[in-house]
Amino acid sequence: MLKGKKKLATLVTVCVLAGSTAMAAGSPAAVPVRAVPVQQSAPVSVGTSAIETWRTQKQLAQEETMALLWMRSAAEYRALCYQGYNAAMMEVDKALSDPARKGKPLAIVLDCDETVTDNTPALAKAAADGNGQYKSIWWRDVVHEGKSGAMPGAVDFLQQVDKKGLAIFYVSNRYAPVNYEATEANLKALRFPQADKKHILLMEKSGNKQLRFNTITADYDVVVYMGDNAGDLPIGTNGKSLTERNQIVDAHKADFGTKYIVFPNPVYGAWVSAIAKNYLTMTPEQRDEVNREFLTKNY
Ligand SMILES: [Mg+2]
Repeated sequence: MLKGKKKLATLVTVCVLAGSTAMAAGSPAAVPVRAVPVQQSAPVSVGTSAIETWRTQKQLAQEETMALLWMRSAAEYRALCYQGYNAAMMEVDKALSDPARKGKPLAIVLDCDETVTDNTPALAKAAADGNGQYKSIWWRDVVHEGKSGAMPGAVDFLQQVDKKGLAIFYVSNRYAPVNYEATEANLKALRFPQADKKHILLMEKSGNKQLRFNTITADYDVVVYMGDNAGDLPIGTNGKSLTERNQIVDAHKADFGTKYIVFPNPVYGAWVSAIAKNYLTMTPEQRDEVNREFLTKNY
């Protein structure tokens, strides 16, 4: 049995949620994904047996517990969701009454996962099961189950935007060839409007969303961009370092809360992989050392 597990492990491409740009062939897309061979993504400190790999993943899963607990339980998380949608709606109303915006049709652009769709039940179950690194096959199965929920306030917000006549573009890094059909069905089941091929733009080749943003802005006047990852905004953070990401955000500080709306995601995202080079492929012990050093040197 261990033999079989080990063989499977060597075949499976691992996608680390916290990673990069798009939950690969199936990762919580929004859950950016970096696909790397399992032996690179899950180095173990005490050997390479299936049991030791499992133990390592369980340790990594434990790192996510408090972050997931906060998203699953805190009133403050719900409040921030409402705050984000309320701020976006103010911008929508402002744009509708702005005579200067009578050119191209108005639109909003938003990410899906952890921006309007809620995957925390599946993430929490995976963490509880000791899966601290989210495999592409696991994510594909989650997407195909079609059980992503709606974040607090998301349905009302999107339906109101739709009624006000704006176009709604769902720009997600779920991997299109594997996940499009299931994603459209899930969004429709949640009663999210405009969930069709024109408005759902998933990842084809690149996790950098800027090309998809450019396609939209060629025909639409985008009022607001919304996401839980800086890469969900057209500010050029894709592939940038921790320092660069922070500098870019600082340079756009006047636009947050108006043109750019950000939702909290302490569990995964490009911010994790930006902590240090190869952070996603470190052992829990190595991460612990990096974390400690980072927090200490920044005090
Ligand atoms: Mg997301």
